[in-house]
Amino acid sequence: MKRVFESLRSRLIALILVAMLPMLTIAWFIGAQLYHHAVDDAYRETKILVQGISLQQEEHINTARELLFSLSASPLIIERRQEACSVFKDALAKHAIFANVGMTDVEGNAICMGAPKTHEGSFSDRLWFRQIRQGHDEIVVGDYHLGVLIKEPVVIVAKPVKGRHGEHLAYLFVSVDLSWFDRNNLGNKLPKGAEVIFYDHNGVILHSEPEPEIWRGKPIGAAIRRIGAPDPATGVTEAYAMDGISRLFSFAKLESSSASENAFVAVGIPTDTALAQVRRTGGLAVLVVLGVFGGMLLFAWVGTGRLVIAPVRALIYQANAHAAGDLAQRSGVADGTELSELAHALDGMAVKLAAHEHELRLHLHAFNAHAIVSAADTAGNIVYANDKFCEISQYAREEVIGKTHQLINSGFHPPEFFSTLWGTISQGEIWHGNIRNRRKDGSYYWVASTIVPFVDDNGQLERYFSIRTDITRALAIDEALQKSEERFRLLAKNALDVISLHDPDGRYSYVSPSCERVLGYAPADLTGHDGYELVHPDDVERVRGMLHQPALLGEPGECGYVRVRHRNGGYIWVDATAAPTRDEAGNIVSIQVSVRDVTGRKAAEDTLRLHDRAIAASGSGIVIFRRGDLGIEYANAAYSDIVELPEADLPGQRWPALAEAAGSLGAWQFLRDAVISGEEMHAVVEGLSRHGRNVWCDVFVSPVRSEGRAITHFVAAISDVTDQVIMEAVLMRAKEAAEQASQAKSKFLSHVGHELRTPLNSIVGFAQLLESDPYAPLNEEQHERIEHILRSGWELRELIDDVLDLSRIEAGRLELKPEDVNVFDLVRECLEMIAAQATEKGLEVVNLSGECAQQMARVDVKRFKQVMLNLLSNAVKYNREGGRVTVSCHVSDDGVMHMAVSDTGIGIPPEKRDELFQYFSRLGAENSGIPGIGVGLALCRHLVDLMGGNITVESVPGQGSRFEIELPGTCCVPETV
Ligand code: ADP
Repeated sequence: MKRVFESLRSRLIALILVAMLPMLTIAWFIGAQLYHHAVDDAYRETKILVQGISLQQEEHINTARELLFSLSASPLIIERRQEACSVFKDALAKHAIFANVGMTDVEGNAICMGAPKTHEGSFSDRLWFRQIRQGHDEIVVGDYHLGVLIKEPVVIVAKPVKGRHGEHLAYLFVSVDLSWFDRNNLGNKLPKGAEVIFYDHNGVILHSEPEPEIWRGKPIGAAIRRIGAPDPATGVTEAYAMDGISRLFSFAKLESSSASENAFVAVGIPTDTALAQVRRTGGLAVLVVLGVFGGMLLFAWVGTGRLVIAPVRALIYQANAHAAGDLAQRSGVADGTELSELAHALDGMAVKLAAHEHELRLHLHAFNAHAIVSAADTAGNIVYANDKFCEISQYAREEVIGKTHQLINSGFHPPEFFSTLWGTISQGEIWHGNIRNRRKDGSYYWVASTIVPFVDDNGQLERYFSIRTDITRALAIDEALQKSEERFRLLAKNALDVISLHDPDGRYSYVSPSCERVLGYAPADLTGHDGYELVHPDDVERVRGMLHQPALLGEPGECGYVRVRHRNGGYIWVDATAAPTRDEAGNIVSIQVSVRDVTGRKAAEDTLRLHDRAIAASGSGIVIFRRGDLGIEYANAAYSDIVELPEADLPGQRWPALAEAAGSLGAWQFLRDAVISGEEMHAVVEGLSRHGRNVWCDVFVSPVRSEGRAITHFVAAISDVTDQVIMEAVLMRAKEAAEQASQAKSKFLSHVGHELRTPLNSIVGFAQLLESDPYAPLNEEQHERIEHILRSGWELRELIDDVLDLSRIEAGRLELKPEDVNVFDLVRECLEMIAAQATEKGLEVVNLSGECAQQMARVDVKRFKQVMLNLLSNAVKYNREGGRVTVSCHVSDDGVMHMAVSDTGIGIPPEKRDELFQYFSRLGAENSGIPGIGVGLALCRHLVDLMGGNITVESVPGQGSRFEIELPGTCCVPETV
């Protein structure tokens, strides 16, 4: 039913019906007007009828009044004689309109009356009676009521019968009968079927026509049962009457001026009669309206069907077809109406939708080709997965649908990761992030995910759409890029080269971090500065011409050995290259410059050049030759002179480029063996130059190793020692002769020494015997001569001992016995030994050697004393009379002990110093008479040498000499030599 009213047709019809409501209202209004007319008619008729009745009733009352006047004048009545009663009967018989005529006493009891009494009763409670008793002398008209004694609907007209004095004697009354108004009297004033009901002011029916007997005394409500509300203007009301037939009742009051309480009249005209015209007209009107209604409905039904419903259905069909995906469907609605415009709009929409759908399909195709898409319900179960999802996860769609994404969980992410994810999307918010998933085969892939929650119309979460992109490769590339970038960064930082970008005018726009290491400047210090700022002024033009200008012309440039200022103020040497960089249009937008610090190389090259020049200028021959084939790679001018071959012809020659002399074959072989085994070798060999000259060469061959320590070349330093060799040969021969002479001398000395010693011992021995023979005591002179023999003997023995020591030293047979001793004590002993000689010569002996009192030295005691005695003896011997001998000693910081013996004697001339310490050299003292043979100092030097020390002399002729022995502190002394 609801659907019916929801249909467009029903609504249209309802609309028509609603549109017709005013018509119905008009019809209803016309009907109501007609009805009112009918009611008014009925009322008017009633009014007229009641006015007629009222007039007649008025007449009746007047008649009664006249009757009462005439009766009251009658003596019979006044005297209340018996005959008076007949008067009443007569009067009643004359007036059909009266129900009764009679007389009551003053108490209201009927004295006599014209009508037979049907009921007992008194008039005392009647209105007319009360009024007349209240003193009305004239006629009173009571109310309409049912008669007390005869039960007829009456109104009583009464008049008192007065005595002579005006007192009330009795009361005359006439009952004017209402039932006189029957159908006859009312005549054809009433339509057929009409009813007339009289009722008093209490609503009690007094009289009705028809059937007065039935309804008399009953309440009016029982006779008239209202159907509707009374007409407000007229009071006409529709009601069922006594016979149950519907009537229009009009109500009116009897217009009786004399009655105290007038009765009311209700006139009921059968509704059918009263409203016959109305119904006819109304019926016709209803028929017309219904006809119009029907026609319109029929038209609406058919018309809307064809003009509206069918096109609308076609449009609905089209819309449904579009909704089902068939965008080609058209409604075919004819042009010219709003619906056709709607159809056009729908068609247009379909066209746009189709285009949109086509575009969407393309997008979707592209989207699905790129993205990995799945959808899950709120429980997380997968409800959709695209091909890409299946492809990358290696799961068939059936394996995926209904499962959760746990299926592809790689276990890489901690549970908090997913709880955060679910927390986000379950609140309806979009989640972005990277996830590592696992394929069916267990391998992993990374996806960049976007999860979009969708809500239904009620705002409840409905679906989660996951859109992912495979970023496994991107991540790998990213990682590789990061590593590469890191490597590049390190490279740029640690590179030897400074890489910079310059504007075409030369300003720095980028400088690599290595700049800080190479030039001391941070890249930011240089960016924006002129590239020439740091270039040495002398090199600016070269840089401009070899780097800058070629780059501006689109050519690469190169410029070696440019000086660039370091931050520390000094210049470094660099090699620079430049290349232009272009934009997409081919315009040169910047210049890339690469600068390499070659200061070290420059220095090395300078050194090499110096070395080259030095080698070339060297007086020695220098040859560099290969190890394998001994091919000469370099030979200097000096070698060219040795070989007697032009310098330019030497490279390529086989080492040594000299012919080997027969006498040096072995030495040459040594050199070759050394080259083969890669060792250093020194040899002096004889060769023949290209011109056949004999040349002695001092050759030093040493290997040259590569960085890998392999021997690749040899370098030979060759000196022409021909002259030296010849000289050495001469010297050798001289030396050999001298050695032979020396050996002969040593032999001779040793032999002579021993030979001298034997007779000397005899001389001394016998002299001692002579001196000490108790049996032949010597006189003074003899004693002196013996003493002289002995002293000379001792001196000669010392001399011989010295000569023997000398021969021992030369023969290498002198032995030392080193021990740690306090030299201070030894010095003191020596001083004691020469004290007599010194005193004899009047010399002062000063011992300042106390500084070495604590000094221990490892020396041969006998030989140390021998040295000291020799020096002290000379200091005494070659001193002047009354001079001074000083012994001093100190230990230097390096631990060396310096023992010095100074005198104030004749001194030694400088030109003779070289002869000191030589055997048998007395420096001119031979003729001085001072004893000696010139061996002492020579022995001293040898002995000090043997003790690891040194002896030096300082002397000023005429002032004195100073001899100093340097001995290592507690140094070991070799036991044998
Ligand atoms: P001798 O004293 O036996 O001549 P020496 O070898 O001791 O031999 O000395 C060599 C020479 O050095 C001496 O002959 C002397 O001329 C010179 N000479 C040595 N000591 C002194 C000295 N203290 N003062 C001057 N001349 C000296």
